[in-house]
Amino acid sequence: MEPSTYKITIEGTVQGVGFRPFVYTLAKRFGLTGSVCNGTQGVEIELNATPEMLERFLQALQEELPPLASIDAIHTVECEALHFDDFQIVTTNQEGERTVRIPPDVSICAECEKELFDPANRRYGYPFITCTHCGVRYSIIYDLPYDRKNTSMKFFKMCKTCEAEYTDPLDRRYHAQPIGCWECGPTLSLRDKSEKLIVKSEELIDVASQLLLKGKIVAVKGVGGYHLMCDATNEAAVLKLRERKQRPAKPFAVMVRDVAMARELAEICEQEEALLLSKERPVVLLKSKKSYTGLSSQVAPNISRIGLFLPYTPLHLLLFEILKRPLVATSANITDEPICTNIEDLEKLQGVYDYVLEHDRRIVNGCDDSVVMAVEGQEVILRRARGYAPASIKLPFSLPKQTLAMGANQKSTVAIGFDNQVILSPHIGDLGSIGSVVYYEKNIETLKRVYGFEPETIVYDKHPNYESTKVAKHLIAHRSALNALAVQHHYAHILGVMAEKQIEGKVFGVAFDGTGYGDDGRLWGGEFMVCDYDGYERVAHIDYFKLIGGEKAIKEPRRVALSLLFERFGEAALDLNIPTIQAFSKPQLRTLYIAWQKGLNAPLSSSVGRLFDAVASLLGICHVMSFEGESGMLLEEQYDASVTGYYPFGYQEGKIDILPTVAAILGEEDVTVAVSKFFNTLVEIIATVYAPYDLPLVLSGGVFQNRVLLELLFKRFSNAMVPTTIPPNDGGIALGQAVASHFVE
Ligand code: ZN
Ligand code: ZN
Ligand code: FE
Repeated sequence: MEPSTYKITIEGTVQGVGFRPFVYTLAKRFGLTGSVCNGTQGVEIELNATPEMLERFLQALQEELPPLASIDAIHTVECEALHFDDFQIVTTNQEGERTVRIPPDVSICAECEKELFDPANRRYGYPFITCTHCGVRYSIIYDLPYDRKNTSMKFFKMCKTCEAEYTDPLDRRYHAQPIGCWECGPTLSLRDKSEKLIVKSEELIDVASQLLLKGKIVAVKGVGGYHLMCDATNEAAVLKLRERKQRPAKPFAVMVRDVAMARELAEICEQEEALLLSKERPVVLLKSKKSYTGLSSQVAPNISRIGLFLPYTPLHLLLFEILKRPLVATSANITDEPICTNIEDLEKLQGVYDYVLEHDRRIVNGCDDSVVMAVEGQEVILRRARGYAPASIKLPFSLPKQTLAMGANQKSTVAIGFDNQVILSPHIGDLGSIGSVVYYEKNIETLKRVYGFEPETIVYDKHPNYESTKVAKHLIAHRSALNALAVQHHYAHILGVMAEKQIEGKVFGVAFDGTGYGDDGRLWGGEFMVCDYDGYERVAHIDYFKLIGGEKAIKEPRRVALSLLFERFGEAALDLNIPTIQAFSKPQLRTLYIAWQKGLNAPLSSSVGRLFDAVASLLGICHVMSFEGESGMLLEEQYDASVTGYYPFGYQEGKIDILPTVAAILGEEDVTVAVSKFFNTLVEIIATVYAPYDLPLVLSGGVFQNRVLLELLFKRFSNAMVPTTIPPNDGGIALGQAVASHFVE
């Protein structure tokens, strides 16, 4: 049979991942002629083949993909017959619609790791060894297309040997943008607080390792920012880091050399091992082993979970080759500020670190470590950043307008939406400082620049005081033609999951979280909503209680507990002999009672996150939090699966009365029983409200980061859906907002 000419367009993550050489090798193997090039929609192939050959070629193409590539769609059309002498990679320099994706930063591959430790290799011990299948991408890119001149590698001129690899289609480093070597690539240096130290480059890792072994705190420049590192087995060093960083209790992530070391520290199931070893190399939250006593108790005080991750750069591997012990590796930032990405920013932390292990490859786009956990076989992502970001999420329908979604205020992310896809930024962080808002705006600019994107619609949260809302209003004020849309926070939570799972039709959404602005101006957070893409009906909610002191109540569980006590017992609560009352002075109690009674700075809320706080205080577990989510973590510690039964609660006319639960908790002798029954009560509340609905069950909101609650819900409802591509916390809001933009025609 005579061959015909086919034009094949492949969409997906197919640029900057070694796709063209892969196609080239494949075509040669099949003895086919034609060409392959990068186009605006992905990779374009012209091929002379018979229909059978074409089919076999496309099958092999999909089965043998390079490690970092993924295919969304393949379009094949037969075109006018063309003649080719052989198969060629055609280099193009097209500009056009930029729908091509930025590949994320991934960990060093096995082949590069082997070369790193091979004394015969010319890159032996080179801390920036990389190839087409691994290394930095997003963090070094200024602009698309992903080409060396559009990355911070443009400041390094390739040597002859590197260039030969770079231009050879059959080399593993063909068009590997970040390649370099001892001769031509980025270099390391070591500084103390003020200046560069004079150390020979081949001795740098050794010297830095010795400093860590001596208990020093070393800021280490990584992929998307700096880590503060210290020896995790050295109590004094970890304590020093806590004191200097003014971070009394929030657990630190720990980098371990390999899975074997991880197994010494934590219990790890198959799925968790796969997550640790995945090319994204996230921090994986694991159950720590009580039997292991080598780790400093200061790493995660009072918490039996530990966040572990494996080395993901050659530099990390070189450090571990000498250190052979776990390292605390926490993002270098000032509390509430974004991760430091350059030495000028880092200098604000001079009081925290002793030394800096620095390199001269610029970080263009900051990106934190990602955080994930496995619950009942499901993967839940808590922070979506390095390795995963930016991600493209396909929608079940097309958006009418180019959309910019502003996200929320905590754990913020932003998203842009066009056609039937949404690109979600990495985790940006809390917008609690000027620095973080600047960084947030920079992330918006990056997405706009890289994707050549101008928003027609801006979607933001209904909360008038969110920084993201203020930035949105500012953008709208300066661009008259722009459409604006405010979306309710919890509806956005549920919409995000619907989009991620491509659900069509109605769902029963449960949004449990900290606080979000409600349609009635109250602070919602215990919401039951029947939702579809056109709107929602709030069918039930936790009955309102007062947050005495507003913002203060968010940090002080005792204030929420006190409010519920006043609600239940009135003034008589002041005479109760319980931990919450004892956590205040007599005059304080008086003042707070008056504030509660008169509703002075005491906004109404239905937040389940705050209920967790209240229970933690009622049981004397936590009265004032030193970090967000602390009360929930401490409650998890007390949970005992063997405790059955739940506490009474009321449910009438869409309002869930939690006061009977509060009273019952006070009557409980045993803290473990009380905590366990409280978890069971939340499950029972969901079961009760959900019972009459024959709809898919969707759970979202920050409270669903709680492992115990999730486990119980997965056991109770096999159909329960939680977000997996986006976090259940406010990091997923931007996707829901982008989806809602279809309201604007
Ligand atoms: Zn590699
Ligand atoms: Zn070189
Ligand atoms: Fe939320």
